[in-house]
Amino acid sequence: MMIKPKIKIATTSLAGCFGCHMSFLDMDERLVSLLERVEFDRSPFTDIKHCGPCDIGLIEGGVCNAENVHVLREFRANCKTLVAVGACAINGGVPAMRNFFDLQDCLQEVYLTGTGVMNPQIPGDIELPLLLDKVYPISEVVRIDYFLPGCPPSADAFLQLLQPLLAGHKPVIAKSQLHYD
Ligand code: SF4
Repeated sequence: MMIKPKIKIATTSLAGCFGCHMSFLDMDERLVSLLERVEFDRSPFTDIKHCGPCDIGLIEGGVCNAENVHVLREFRANCKTLVAVGACAINGGVPAMRNFFDLQDCLQEVYLTGTGVMNPQIPGDIELPLLLDKVYPISEVVRIDYFLPGCPPSADAFLQLLQPLLAGHKPVIAKSQLHYD
């Protein structure tokens, strides 16, 4: 009997809160049958640090710093299908609220003059990724194949996306599962 190779999925959180990843895990016992058909490459589920060749990449969060740009480009280069998962990836979401303000003003408020600040100092370690002037939707940095809206998308929405993709078909998400929170 021929054993079908498993579909490889990579996931990452850029400027996100991991809530979309938590929602993915809400599949609960349905994860067991999913895992019979897929294996995870780079993901918080595996702790693999770089994305290798994959069938599907799921991206949570927008792009707020230079490292996010690097990770996103690595996913685009290695994933046949790339999906923007959740409001933050699609339009910047809550982190993009800083776009209404100048970046230097944000840093000053958070690290120097804001309520409760102790030892005021703006972090400047060379190891820290450089912040971008704004938080960007991921589609402004790389080409995206599918968008799964919601904050977060439900576990059912993830399944409605993945099941057709695993079978090589175009996913159609039920209207009831599409939320534009
Ligand atoms: Fe978190 Fe919502 Fe953004 Fe997902 S879309 S990363 S749940 S804030």
